[in-house]
Parts: sequence; structure tokens; C-alpha cells
Amino acid sequence: MKIVVLGGGESGCGAAYLAQKKGLDVFLSDKGTIKENYRKFLVESGIEFEEGTHDEERLLEADWIIKSPGIPKKAAIMHKIHQKGIRVSSEIEFAAEFTEAKIIAITGSNGKTTTTSLIYHILKNDDLKVGLGGNIGKSFAKQVADENFDYYVLEVSSFQLDDVQNFRPYISLLLNLSQDHLDQYNYNYEEYALAKFRITENQENDNFFIYNKDDEMSQNLLQKLEIKARMIPFSIKEKMREGGYLTNQKMVVRLEDEFAMDISELSLVGNHNVANSLAASIAGKILNIRNESIRHSLMTFQAVEHRLEQVADFGGVKYINDSKATNVNAAYYALESMKQPTVWIVGGVDKGNDYAEIEDLVKKKVKAIVCLGLDNQKIIDFFKDKKELIYSSSSMEKAVDIAHSLAQKGDAVLLSPCCASFDLFENYEDRGNQFKNEVLKIEKAAN
Ligand code: ADP
Repeated sequence: MKIVVLGGGESGCGAAYLAQKKGLDVFLSDKGTIKENYRKFLVESGIEFEEGTHDEERLLEADWIIKSPGIPKKAAIMHKIHQKGIRVSSEIEFAAEFTEAKIIAITGSNGKTTTTSLIYHILKNDDLKVGLGGNIGKSFAKQVADENFDYYVLEVSSFQLDDVQNFRPYISLLLNLSQDHLDQYNYNYEEYALAKFRITENQENDNFFIYNKDDEMSQNLLQKLEIKARMIPFSIKEKMREGGYLTNQKMVVRLEDEFAMDISELSLVGNHNVANSLAASIAGKILNIRNESIRHSLMTFQAVEHRLEQVADFGGVKYINDSKATNVNAAYYALESMKQPTVWIVGGVDKGNDYAEIEDLVKKKVKAIVCLGLDNQKIIDFFKDKKELIYSSSSMEKAVDIAHSLAQKGDAVLLSPCCASFDLFENYEDRGNQFKNEVLKIEKAAN
């Protein structure tokens, strides 16, 4: 069996490593440059590879192509591969074929990393032998090759679900749907949403599908789809007989027995995180984790970096880094969770944002807007008749400076950009780190 892996990053190198360990004939091809650490890994592992080009002839002789999520679906080489009818899989599907471990797979438009990490924290705290993978951290395939875990908690993006054939998680979660990445899905929201639903496509009635009852698009599609797994809903709007819900500031999960906890005890803040916590607790209950253990994990979980992460609290002002909010929906929940009048740093590369979706919330929560990035003008134009003060900036240093000068005791400064980061930053982590550095610089100068 000839395996060709496309892409030489974490996911591709892991897949190639697993293939080789299983004695398969493997070749890795990356049209760009492979990072030094990965090149070294490939050389040391004795894996044959090329970079800067695709040897098309060789690629098209493959029996099975493992495609990294970063390779666009519409890349010319993908077209040729599909034309030849070669099986294409993501690293996730490929690796899943080589493990008997139970897989808990999480997808959705927002909250994947948070909820995946939270479920991992719940399982790990309960002493289960569990790995964390997918879009987070170490490649799933590499772990399947080297470890012997009983469970894997995997963050799965729509790109990894596009080519699913056999992937069958024990528990799958679809957290929510909002418009994102539509450029990869013919600008068709339903097509993108259906890709996410493929997480449950191969599940059977001894599997579980956790879904969001408050999510309009999920509800629409559920009318059309036939789901074989046992379906368990969560909602922060309505009570239910089976599933997870919010009532009187308490989160409740009802399956065979009941788990309840005051939301003030949750370490994560914001309504969206109540939803994430409900979804994670349902997974915990399905795996028979004790209530006390789930409660303890929900109380001790540390917010993942760049997601509503409190960076500093000085001069009576809280500074919060939500750099990962790359779409309007994520920024909506960030603003909703703010308890103080907020100076909001927003902007970057606009992916077709409709600011009308957050207009009311901005009115309620925001005292000043500091735009930062390529598409500032669109934000300025949208909010120009509003009461908030609007400023424009073109570097993080300037943006934080302005925000700092506007914030008064009792306020918060929130970076929640609604936009991609590629105009001024390498990625959202770089954007968040620059924010943190600038804030810490000011804090140091103030002390
Ligand atoms: P993902 O991995 O899906 O991008 P993250 O956990 O990294 O999700 O969070 C991305 C952004 O979305 C952050 O700004 C975070 O505060 C916000 N967020 C987290 N959970 C949700 C949710 N359930 N609904 C909406 N936004 C959310």
C-alpha cells in the first residue's frame, strides 16, 4: 500500500511517522517549505520526503493520500487526485484506523479548543489514560504510533471532516454553527454546516452525539438528517428531560442520574462557556465520571491562552486577551461576558463580517472602539453614527496605548478582534502575545 502524505507540519509528519511504523510505503510531499524541526524529524525517522514541489507522477500513484488540514480543498493537486479516484483522508481518519481507543471528537464553529481541553482535563483528572490531539498540540497519529491510551479527545475542524469515510467517534460533539471559512465551501453556509455534521456520519446506536439545541442551523439540519447515534442535547435556554441545561444560575446534566453545579463555581466565564461546560459534562457523564470529579475539574480548569484570558489587572482596569476571536460570533460572546464598561480593540482581516449581529451588544457594553488592522474603515463606517468613541490604529503598541489612555477605573480593555490576524501578525497567537507584551509594558511602567 503506497501512502502519500500532503503537508509537512505537525499533522502530516505524525501521519507519515505512523504509516512508517506500521510498515507502509510512505512518501511526504510539501509544496512549501517544511519547518526546520519537522525536517529534522523526517530525516531522523528515515521518512522519504520532498519540499518546494509536488512530484505529481508519484503522488498520483498513491493508493491513499493523507491530506493535512492546511492544504486547500481546491488546490490543483487535489483536483487531480480526486479525478483519479484516489482515497483521501485526514490525519485524524487515518490514525483512527490504527487504534482501539475510544474517541471523543469535538467540532463546531467556536469553542472547539476550549471544550476539547476541558474534556481532556475532566478525563485526565479522573486518572483515565487519555491523549489530547486533533488540531491541538501533538499529532494524534504520532500518539497512536507511540502511546497506549484508552481515550483520545480530539479537536476536529470541518476540513478534517470533509473526506470522512470510516471515522467513528464513540462520542461526537457539535458545539454550534456560525458562518466561517465559507470561502472553502462555495460560500454556501449549509455546505459548511453539513461538513461539520459528518462527525456523526458513521456513528451507530451505541455511540453518542452531543448537540446544541439552541443552535438554529443545527436544528434545521437535524430535521433533514438521519442520526444513528444516541442524541443528547444541551441548551442554555430551555430545560429538558435528558441532556444538559441552565436553570436559575445552575447547570444541570440529566442522563441516567443527575449532575448539577452552580455556574458561579465554574472557572470559565461567560454564557458561551456555560454551554461549553454543559457539553463537556455530558461527555464526562457518558464516560461514568463521578459528579465530584467533574465538578472539581470544572472549577480548576484554566482558560486556554488567547481565549478570554485575563492578562493583567492594574489601575482598576482589567486587560483581557481574546485574540482567538476571529469571527463575529466569538466576539459576541466575549462582549456578552463583559461585566465592566469596555474599551474594545477590534479589527484585522475582515472575512465578510456583518457587524449588525453585534450592534446592540456594542451599544450596551462598549465605551470606546479602537480599530486595529487592514479593514479598519469598514468598522469605522459601520459604527460612525453610534455614541461610542472610535479610534484607528495600525500597530498593537498604538492600539494598547490608546485603549489604556481611555480606560478608567472599573473598566476593561478587551482584545476580541472579530477578524483574522494575517495583516499585521503571523497568526492569532502572535497577535495575542503582542497584546500581552504591550499591556505588561504599561503595567511595569505604572508600578
Ligand atoms: P475554536 O477552537 O473553535 O476556534 P476556541 O475555544 O479556540 O474555539 O475559542 C475561539 C473563540 O471563540 C474565543 O474567542 C472564545 O472566547 C470564543 N468561544 C468559545 N466558546 C464559544 C462558544 N461556545 N460560542 C461562541 N464563542 C465561543
